[in-house]
Amino acid sequence: MPAVKSVLVVGAGLAGAGTAIHLAQGGVAVDLVEIKPDAAALGSGITLQGNALRELRSLGVWEQVRAAGYAFDVTGIRAPDPAGSVVAEIPDARTGGPDLPAVMGMERPELARILVDRATEVGVKVRLGTTHTDLRQDADGVDVTFSDGSTGRYDLVVGADGVRSWTRRALGVDLETKPVGMGIWRAFGPRPASVTRTDLYYGGPSFIAGYCPTGEDSLYAYIVEPAQDRSTLSPEEQLATMKELSRPYHGPWDDIRETLTDPSRVNYTWFETHVLPAPWARGRVVLVGDAAHTCPPTIAQGGAMALEDAVVLAELLVERDAVDDALWETFTARRYGRARTVVDASNQLAQWQLDHVQGDIPSLMRSVAMLVSQPA
Ligand SMILES: Cc1cc2nc3c(=O)[nH]c(=O)nc-3n(C[C@H](O)[C@H](O)[C@H](O)COP(=O)(O)OP(=O)(O)OC[C@H]3O[C@@H](n4cnc5c(N)ncnc54)[C@H](O)[C@@H]3O)c2cc1C
Repeated sequence: MPAVKSVLVVGAGLAGAGTAIHLAQGGVAVDLVEIKPDAAALGSGITLQGNALRELRSLGVWEQVRAAGYAFDVTGIRAPDPAGSVVAEIPDARTGGPDLPAVMGMERPELARILVDRATEVGVKVRLGTTHTDLRQDADGVDVTFSDGSTGRYDLVVGADGVRSWTRRALGVDLETKPVGMGIWRAFGPRPASVTRTDLYYGGPSFIAGYCPTGEDSLYAYIVEPAQDRSTLSPEEQLATMKELSRPYHGPWDDIRETLTDPSRVNYTWFETHVLPAPWARGRVVLVGDAAHTCPPTIAQGGAMALEDAVVLAELLVERDAVDDALWETFTARRYGRARTVVDASNQLAQWQLDHVQGDIPSLMRSVAMLVSQPA
């Protein structure tokens, strides 16, 4: 019999939706609350590595993801010169196995929609526009009050509510999320025919300029700069700033620049990082995904780590017959070191750029690829 019969999952991102789907498939009654009224609200794109695709397949959504996204197996490196010259073409590791693409770009709202639909299909009770306002646990369960005044009692609560997790704060966990020193401009829009994979432009006035196709008709493009306060800019000024920063980059960037016309499709955010020391659980409340560990997207592994947390947690809860220290020790053994290694590598890549140091990027990327090629 599973260790839990009823679970509340907080947050319908990759970690939360993934946990909810797996638990429901394992026969557990799952409520999933998401604070946003629409889980698939407007958003940018995401680069999913093979190990993320492997977990999406285990959730039963691979066919929808494959149909909606844009797969590729090579990343280009381009120079910030007038031709946007290709200086290298690097085969991406197929970390999800030989039968899955190495990388897939997707529109975030589309991915969210696919996961929430799947959760509903497998019996998860999804409550949008809802959060928890009070958590009280005892030895046998957790009493929860929700923002609509309703209450519930669960065998376990999973806090998958992202980098600023309310669940983490409700547990009294003190965790400092630090800025990495970089800020990223992102815009999403139509895919010009010249964009068929991710290309990264290193050098020039910004740290990186890049793009990723997210579907036949869509892409997201980004520029990474030293973190600065951009909050006073109006949407129109934000668009103008990103466009200006993109001017030194050519090749497909010339086509992308032409499409940068809608201020509502541009956003700016800082890279941040933290890793919660193990264990990630306090009694009958556990944190997963960005709530527990977050990294700059320099190797685009945050989504995969969130999905892997979900799979491992759900597998243990369904296999074991008690929520006890032994379960959390096994969860830590399978997740902490792997997530920590990915966060450290992501931060290292950012730091090399911040310090203008020529680090051994290929060897770092190889070691992460070897690690995450092993199923979680
Ligand atoms: C600029 C940037 C670019 C990135 N690019 C990539 C990339 O290309 N590839 C990649 O793999 N990763 C990338 N990441 C990282 C990736 O987005 C995260 O690691 C991943 O989304 C974590 O998933 P999650 O489910 O833990 O958290 P989230 O995706 O943050 O989901 C948390 C969910 O909880 C909800 N929520 C929050 N508070 C509450 C509450 N109180 N009650 C109920 N619900 C709540 C939120 O609305 C949200 O839906 C990027 C991150 C950043 C900052």
